[in-house]
Order: sequence, then structure tokens, then C-alpha cells
Amino acid sequence: SDKILEVSDLEYSFDTYAGEVHAIRGVSFYVNRSESLAIVGESGCGKSVTVQSIMKLIPTPPGRFKRGKIIYCGSDITDYDDRQMEKLRGKEMSMIFQDPMTSLNPTMRVGRQISEGIRKHEKISTGEALARSVELLKEVGISDPERNVMRYPHMFSGGMRQRAMIAIALACNPKILFADEPTTSLDVTTQAQILEMMNHLKREFEMAIVLITHNLGIVARFAERISVMYAGKIVESGSTDDIFYSPRHPYTWGLLNSVPAVGKKRTEKLSTIKGTPPDLFMPPAGCGFYDRCDYRMKVCKENDPPAREIGEGHFASCWLLDNRAPGVTPYVAKRH
Ligand code: SF4
Ligand code: MG
Repeated sequence: SDKILEVSDLEYSFDTYAGEVHAIRGVSFYVNRSESLAIVGESGCGKSVTVQSIMKLIPTPPGRFKRGKIIYCGSDITDYDDRQMEKLRGKEMSMIFQDPMTSLNPTMRVGRQISEGIRKHEKISTGEALARSVELLKEVGISDPERNVMRYPHMFSGGMRQRAMIAIALACNPKILFADEPTTSLDVTTQAQILEMMNHLKREFEMAIVLITHNLGIVARFAERISVMYAGKIVESGSTDDIFYSPRHPYTWGLLNSVPAVGKKRTEKLSTIKGTPPDLFMPPAGCGFYDRCDYRMKVCKENDPPAREIGEGHFASCWLLDNRAPGVTPYVAKRH
């Protein structure tokens, strides 16, 4: 198949002194080879946990895998232990974070960090590995790579650190890159440059990218497909056009209303979604968005809406899609 990663019905919890936090409550999605998927949602919705649990980066306890299935390249990796995952991490799947210092070692020259990543999975000489590191720095748009490869992370600007972290992540040519809010701490211009660079690398390395972000605005020109997450579930997913031009879930409408339209002045009034997400210590039986939804109906409170396919590959979970529901004024798409 064309799917490089397929996650079905993933449930993941955290055991805390206060009780069990139901962080992921039945998440299913897939990523095709060389595809870019964005997972979008507010902080705390479970998007980072989803990816970290797939890569098994969460210590257990407090993390607890409850159920679900993770298929990578046709193999079921759901029950892989740490030793098996070590072979995949970096080589098959890589991850980058919002704060590059999480993955950069401040006491080690950047070139050596990239080289060590390569040498962990490939038997090549230090000289060869260093030459590859220079190439990678060039690839991620770091100028004067021969000189910068010998530098320490603190000598780099924020944008350069982000690029260096991407170089480390790409060192072994992974088939899938998870990027968790990779540009959030950067200014708008650098953000756009880094996303564009990642898109270029995706094509060049034929790698899939899963971009995690709270900012729907930045994914319009980046992702091919989008999954919208809310309170530990994916509430809508579809092509980027589906999500921007024919969104069907009230939460997606809310997110879109908080994205400035292209060409509009900065002063444009943006709405934020009122209220807060439900308590995941005691998740609601019905729709997770109930408390904040302008369109809620009686059925929504006690019954979790099933996912429905609205168009090819376009899914949403909302009772408004039931043909017994009253019609609501459809969301009017802005230009993005
Ligand atoms: Fe709103 Fe009901 Fe749809 Fe949930 S299921 S988003 S409460 S209309
Ligand atoms: Mg996060």
C-alpha cells in the first residue's frame, strides 16, 4: 500500500496521583509515502502525545498505552520494545521539536552531533560522516557549512538551531519526520522560510512529514491533508482544501475564524473560541466540544458523534451531519 504509517483507534493515558488522564481517546489516521499531514489543535488536545506515543518516547509510567494498532511500513510496531524502537528512531522515523535545545547538545559541535547520528546507524568513517554533515547543513540552508559544522549550538541564531536540528533529524534519511510545533518560537518570516525548506526536503528526500501545530494558518500552504484534533480525538480530517473551503465541524469553523485571511490587515478582528476543553480526567460521554459549541443539540451531550465520510477522504464527527439534524448556516470560507 501507499501508507507509510497507519494508526488505528489509539488510546493512551497518563497515570497521575490525581487519577487517569485520558489523553488520547481513539485516534485513527494514516500518512502516505512522501506526504505532508498536519495535525492541528489547541495545546493539550493530545497532538504531541499522539506522536510521542507512536515513537514510544513517553516513559511508562506515567504513560500507559491502552489500545490501538500502529503499522509502520507494513509491520505492526505496536508492541515493539525499546531495543526495536531504537533501530527505527532516527533511521526510519525522526522527530523535531519546538525548542531545538531539546535535541541539540550544547557541549558538542554541531557537526559531531550530526555525525554521531549517522554513525549510530551506518558503518562509515568519522571523516565521511563529517563530510555528510557539511552536506546536510548546506541542504537545510545553513550558509558557510564548512565553518558552521565546527561550531557549537549557542553560536547559532534561533533559526539556524532549528535548521541544525532538522539536519540531525534527516541524517539517516528517515521515511517519516514528525515535526512538533517546529517554528512556533520563530518570527513569522523565519517560520515561513523553515516550512518552505521542509517542503523542499520532503520532495528531495521523498519523506513524509507529520506537522503538529496549533496554528491552522501556517499549514494552508504546507500540508496536503489536515487532521483537526480536539480533546483527545480527531474531529475532522480531509484534504487541505476540504478543511479550508468546506469544513464541516464547528470546532474547525472556530479554528478557521481565528486565522487571519490573506491580504487582510493585521487589525482584522479575529474571534477566539470561547470556553475551555473538557476535563480529560473525566472525559464526557458525548461530544467533547459540547460545552463550547454554538450548535449543540440534545443528542450531543450523551452520545459521541461517529465519524462520517462527507466526501472522498473527508471525515467529520458531528451530529449536525446526521440527516435528522436541523440545517445550520454553512461556514463561509475566507481566502487563505
Ligand atoms: Fe456541536 Fe453537537 Fe457537533 Fe458536538 S456533535 S460539534 S456539540 S453540534
Ligand atoms: Mg504539544
